[in-house]
Parts: sequence; structure tokens; C-alpha cells
Amino acid sequence: MRLRNIPGADEAVSNSPWVIQDAETKKGKWSEVFGKNQPLYIEVGMGKGQFITELSRRNPEINYIGIERYTSVLYRALQKRELLTEECGEEFPNLRYLCVDAKDLPNFFGKGEVDRIYLNFSDPWPKERHARRRLTSREFLARYEEILANGGLVEFKTDNRSLFDFSLEEVKESGWELLVCTYDLHHDKELMEGNVMTEYERKFSNLRNPIHKLVIRKPN
Ligand code: SAM
Repeated sequence: MRLRNIPGADEAVSNSPWVIQDAETKKGKWSEVFGKNQPLYIEVGMGKGQFITELSRRNPEINYIGIERYTSVLYRALQKRELLTEECGEEFPNLRYLCVDAKDLPNFFGKGEVDRIYLNFSDPWPKERHARRRLTSREFLARYEEILANGGLVEFKTDNRSLFDFSLEEVKESGWELLVCTYDLHHDKELMEGNVMTEYERKFSNLRNPIHKLVIRKPN
């Protein structure tokens, strides 16, 4: 997702108290940013933030960081957050954002600092020569392995079958443990319990595309 340049987006993202600007300096100290020492879950490629906003509302005992590289997209998430605060009085004290490229994740998080990573409807990068850019490539799994705590999980949803099959191969190759694998999440009653829809999930399930999901645990 890349929205057209939105006037004011760069400025709003730079000035928002919810977007952490000097993330390198917070490495290993994220609990200080939140003022609460509790588990840290991140979403990589958050888009407009519907998923992580809802999670943070449901789970105040967890700290959340949404990661999105484009200011135009993050700006939409900030606008929605502001609206929810104005209209419903919700503050989301356990939710922050980073406007960075996920390939630099180990610069921003200490070893084992993150407890869970969500990847939702990640860009498929269909050309073979771009495979390393896919957020479930072995290169990205190695970055996740570095920042995840022992026993830490990655949860991935997509409607893109080729990307899903590629991801399963990469998981196997990288020695991660496959805990959950479904090709049709929305028809699995048990897995749907507590499922939080993302923007893309709603869009593609409305088109009757089956939604695939996997949950993996980092190698010991
Ligand atoms: N997760 C949302 C959803 O499910 O509705 C948005 C999905 S959208 C297809 C993918 C998002 O990931 C885009 O907003 C894109 O800018 C972001 N993204 C892709 N690669 C990224 C990277 N390397 N670092 C940070 N964000 C990235």
C-alpha cells in the first residue's frame, strides 16, 4: 500500500507524540517508553492500523508498536486514532508507531525484546529477484529471530497463495516450528475465536478469497 503524497503527512508523522522518532535510542528500553514493563508485540507493515488499534484496545496488558514505512499510510492511522480518542475518549496508552523500513528492525529492538510479531497481508513481491524483500523470506525470519524472545511467535495472514507457499518453504528452511497452518481461516471456528480483521482481510474476504494463516515459533 502506498498512498499518494498527502500534504501535511510528513509533518504530522514527525510531530506526533505517538510516533517514536529516535527509535535506535530506545533499543532494549521500550518498556520505559510505555512506562510499563509488559510484553511487547509488534505489527510489521501495519497499513492504516485497524488491526493493531483493536488489539491494543482489547489487551491493555500488552505494549504494541505498529511499523509502517510510508508516512502517507501512517498518517491515516494517526487520523483514525485521533478520531477514536475524540469520539469515544479512548487513549490507547499502550500503542506507539515507528515509520521505518522493517529490514532495519534489529537496529530498533534488543535481542529477545519482542514477544510476538504480526504480519498481515504483506506485499507479495511476485518477481523472483525481489524474493528477499518479502516479509516472510529467510532474510526477514533471521531478523525476527534476533529480536524475538525465546518461544516468541510470528503470526502471518494473507490471501496470496503463492506468498503463503513460499513462506512455508522459508519457515521449513529456517528451522522454525510450524504451530498453526490453515488455508481457510474464516471457516475454522476454533482459529476464528478472537480473530481481529485487518483492512485487507475484510476487503479480500468480501471478494470470497480464502484467507491463509500460519503461526510459527522461533528455533531454540
Ligand atoms: N497490514 C495491513 C492490512 O492487512 O490491512 C496493510 C497491508 S498492505 C498490503 C502492506 C503494508 O506494509 C503497506 O502499508 C506497506 O507500506 C507496508 N510495508 C511493506 N513492506 C514494509 C517494510 N519493509 N517495512 C515497513 N512497512 C512495510
